[in-house]
Order: sequence, then C-alpha cells, then structure tokens
Amino acid sequence: MKKAKKYSNPNTRPLDYLYRCVSQGPVNNGLKKDCTFEHTFMEGDHNCPLCGNKLERTTKGLSVSEILRKGQQIETRNKKNEQK
Ligand SMILES: [Zn+2]
Repeated sequence: MKKAKKYSNPNTRPLDYLYRCVSQGPVNNGLKKDCTFEHTFMEGDHNCPLCGNKLERTTKGLSVSEILRKGQQIETRNKKNEQK
C-alpha cells in the first residue's frame, strides 16, 4: 500500500493561524496611527511586514483542521451522552 503524502489532506496539512499586529501608537515613523495588520501564517514567529512589530497569534483564527478536530471532539462527547 502506498502512503499518500499530499497536503490536500487536512489532517496532515500544516496548521495556519491568524496573526495580528498589536503594535499601538504611531508606527512606521509616525506615518500610521496604529497598525491593524492581520494575516494567516503557519505556526511560528512572524513579524509585521508593515511596521516590523512581532505578530501575536490570535485565538479566533482557528484553522480548518482545528475546527474539524474540535467538531470531532464535540461529536464524540455527544455520542457518549447519547449512550447514557
Ligand atoms: Zn504592524
């Protein structure tokens, strides 16, 4: 049997997270009041391309595979409850 190593499988695809720039106050030498840069990246350390501030991973940006995993957990829990 061949083991498919394709990233099309959500279970093996690297996780993407929503990162947000949290820099406050004037950034980019005062050209911008604040920075609201948001983008999904793979897990790791990322810096804002606009102001160079370190991006923080947000909790609201669940990746598809994380949502699927959570859905499975809830489903399993529901099934356990039904068996009672
Ligand atoms: Zn920024």
